[in-house]
Amino acid sequence: MKTDAFALRHIGPRENDLEHMLKTIGAATLNQLIDETIPSDIRLKSDLDLEPAMTEYEFANHIQKLGNKNKVFQSYIGLGYNAAIIPAVIQRNVFENPGWYTAYTPYQAEIAQGRLEAILNFQTMVIELTGMEIANASLLDEGTAAAEAMALLFDVRSRDQKKNKTNKFFVSEEILPQTLSVLQTRSSPIGVELVIGNHEEFDFSSEYFGAILQYPGKFGQVNDYTAFISKAAENEIKVAVAADILSLVKLTPPGEMGAAVVLGTTQRFGIPLGYGGPHAAYFATKDEYKRSMPGRIIGVTVDTDGNRALRMALQTREQHIKRDKATSNICTAQVLLSVMAGMYSVYHGPKGLQYIADKVHASAATLANALEQSGYLQTNTAFFDTIVVKADAKKVKTIAKENEINFYYIDDNTISISLNETTSITDLNKIVAVFASANGTALTLIETLSETNHFPENVNRTSPFLTHDVFNKYHSETALMRYIKMLERKDLALNHSMISLGSCTMKLNAASEMLPLSMPQWNNIHPFAPLDQAQGYQEMLAKLEQQLNVITGFAGTTLQPNSGAQGEYAGLMVIRAYHQSRGDHHRNIALIPSSAHGTNPASAAMAGMKVVVTKTLENGNIDVDDLREKAILHKDNLACLMVTYPSTHGVFESAIIEITQLIHDNGGQVYMDGANMNAQVGLTNPATIGADVCHLNLHKTFAIPHGGGGPGVGPICVAPQLVPFLPTNPVIPTGGENAITAISAAPWGSALVCLISYGYICMLGAEGLRQSTEYAILNANYIKEKLNGHYDTLYSGENGRAAHEMIIECRPFKEKGIEVTDIAKRLMDYGFHAPTVSFPVAGTMMIEPTESENLEELDRFCDAMIAIRKEIEAATLDNPNNILKNAPHTLMMATTDSWNFPYSREAAAFPLEYIAENKFWPTVRRVDEAYGDRNLNCSCAPIEAYIES
Ligand SMILES: *Cc1c(COP(=O)(O)O)cnc(C)c1O
Repeated sequence: MKTDAFALRHIGPRENDLEHMLKTIGAATLNQLIDETIPSDIRLKSDLDLEPAMTEYEFANHIQKLGNKNKVFQSYIGLGYNAAIIPAVIQRNVFENPGWYTAYTPYQAEIAQGRLEAILNFQTMVIELTGMEIANASLLDEGTAAAEAMALLFDVRSRDQKKNKTNKFFVSEEILPQTLSVLQTRSSPIGVELVIGNHEEFDFSSEYFGAILQYPGKFGQVNDYTAFISKAAENEIKVAVAADILSLVKLTPPGEMGAAVVLGTTQRFGIPLGYGGPHAAYFATKDEYKRSMPGRIIGVTVDTDGNRALRMALQTREQHIKRDKATSNICTAQVLLSVMAGMYSVYHGPKGLQYIADKVHASAATLANALEQSGYLQTNTAFFDTIVVKADAKKVKTIAKENEINFYYIDDNTISISLNETTSITDLNKIVAVFASANGTALTLIETLSETNHFPENVNRTSPFLTHDVFNKYHSETALMRYIKMLERKDLALNHSMISLGSCTMKLNAASEMLPLSMPQWNNIHPFAPLDQAQGYQEMLAKLEQQLNVITGFAGTTLQPNSGAQGEYAGLMVIRAYHQSRGDHHRNIALIPSSAHGTNPASAAMAGMKVVVTKTLENGNIDVDDLREKAILHKDNLACLMVTYPSTHGVFESAIIEITQLIHDNGGQVYMDGANMNAQVGLTNPATIGADVCHLNLHKTFAIPHGGGGPGVGPICVAPQLVPFLPTNPVIPTGGENAITAISAAPWGSALVCLISYGYICMLGAEGLRQSTEYAILNANYIKEKLNGHYDTLYSGENGRAAHEMIIECRPFKEKGIEVTDIAKRLMDYGFHAPTVSFPVAGTMMIEPTESENLEELDRFCDAMIAIRKEIEAATLDNPNNILKNAPHTLMMATTDSWNFPYSREAAAFPLEYIAENKFWPTVRRVDEAYGDRNLNCSCAPIEAYIES
């Protein structure tokens, strides 16, 4: 046996566990189990056509060599992406730490207080720097954040405007090109008309609902927008401002100018360029718009004892409740990156940020002076970090290239230069030398930085920021290291125990997959660097696209979408473009089964489609008769079906071929939600079931860690007829020949983390991938059998098998006063994160162990569930003072002098023997959701400030 095979590390159960597990399940072989699980008519006939698996060592060498094909130039391209210094203490303790990167979205607040606090820091930082009232816990990138701002302003437009059908949105020509492209994509399906122009020539008397401005402008010009915003307000036009977060340290924040929304990227707060991402976008608005705000908001509340506790506020799972009426389809965001950006502010504090912003500005000012001395004209009249120089671009470009420097060439004689935190005086002199050489002037060396501000007094920031304690007390490394560790200890992540969240696929994020992310050849590349400097990336991304084509059976892939939900949206927009190309502009009906994930209808609404919900049978399957009826009824306007496969109920529906055929017969395309791809890889695929497009959640099936709620990558893979429409980028063209405009800001989305999925596929190879799927199915069915007799499984396939996950029934326990939430909270006392609660069926739990969990862990989990089942048995409706209702139990409760509960301390905290060895203590008692929503507070003010009076 090749003991260096990565599959042996990735897959949990050992070979000699197999017999016992199969016996429990009642299958003679693994093959038999798979045959009983997946319908034979959709099985692949042979293994995937992929290159042989690499060992971990081989991959490390391979990725190093590939990385060396990327040329790390000094990039002064700007356009929303700037080199940044990641503080080593944050790199080592957060970015490279599984305690942070393997956690999930903080649905279970009591075991997520650490990252909730870290995100609260991020929100506070955003609120203070922008001068706004409320901020969310990150969006996907600046381009999509701008689109969300447009959508929010459209949603909150005044009653008169709604009556008059006002739909015009002004976009300043100063907006970043990639943001404009995303706005174009997002505006047309929802009926918004973009008008692009010079904000100084804006006609305020015209009927607009909103406007967006860039601050500073795309090439660095700083404008005072105060007059524009107040005039706009007089005309009921609400203004969003896309702002450079670092510039706000020195410039008047848009909030003080009256902006309704302020948004942007926090990339330059210590996040690597990574050839485009992942980076956290920020989004801040006024309190009055909080209910229309996209994404998650972290809020402060209290626990059972009245102590301060944090949790996600306001309809945590918004889309699941509001479906196609949801304010956005954001599910996965960029939490890990927001944690890092927040920590960057904790590390630097207000003084440190001031120092950096001053230095960046001084560098730009000094460079402008030096270039003027060399006879160049610098045209920005006011700027922060970016100057524009008139010069022979061709000449400069040649010399700059020889010196490994990138500028942005606006046209033949205009060059923009954006400076950043890393820029030293030596770097400035190199730039000056390039320009001196280009026009043959003598070189005058820069020795010190100028200290005068190059913007007018009226945009000079005077208000304080980052005044809260947290930004002012962890400035030694020891203090910060301990702060990060203190937060980490409050959170349960995959490095503690299994997180069996159904539909979320919390599998191993192997160290060998993660290591390349820290290599400068990978993380220091600007997304708009010339392609010849990114050959390592180009090769890796092309190979990954090819691998995903092979895995899905499709013809083309785009890696642009930054989450599964963005993939859904991208796929639907591609379907829309396909129909339109055939003259079928009217095809706008999306059929969606009632069991679908909430992002499906939310994405369909964003793509301008009308959602028609189809019924689900008693056994959980799609009601084919109802589907047929609706497909035929809408056949003239049918755009697509959105179907999850295997279903969100964890079942391979055998009617799937009939279902996809039915849609095609009625002129529709089939969108497959690929979140459950972990049950398909190597055994069947979307092309085989008759789909035309699917998204993949690389952060589920393909091993990118969830990061506490992001990053994500949601590529879409498409059949040949849809390839021409794959999205492009306005700066670096990508996609098909009839490409739709951009879905995300960066050409290849979050390219850096694509390395993880690439490594996953390279190291597993065809056989390892297939085995992973088989073991995912094995592990799920093992749990199903172990829990049999204690919990009912809601749905299973024709042969009684689950796919890679299963739903267990918890509703009957209501008779004993026990809700599914009580089980979720009690699991914490046993050291486990709850499975998915109440999705897709309210009052149930969905368990997905993945292939990475070994037999011992599966057994510990099942033992916990069975023990809890006994506790449920002992509960009574009339007395809610029981071990489940009081869960979770904190260390404080267990060790306090008075113990007033009708059960022992041991039963509360150490109910099973194995727990003692690896006890996890939740740090707060059960959080009060309702209190937090009534008293919404999403920044780090002290508790006294919002105690209910
Ligand atoms: C996770 C999931 C999504 C959304 O993916 P994100 O990456 O969180 O946007 C969509 N559908 C299903 C079934 C999912 O499980």
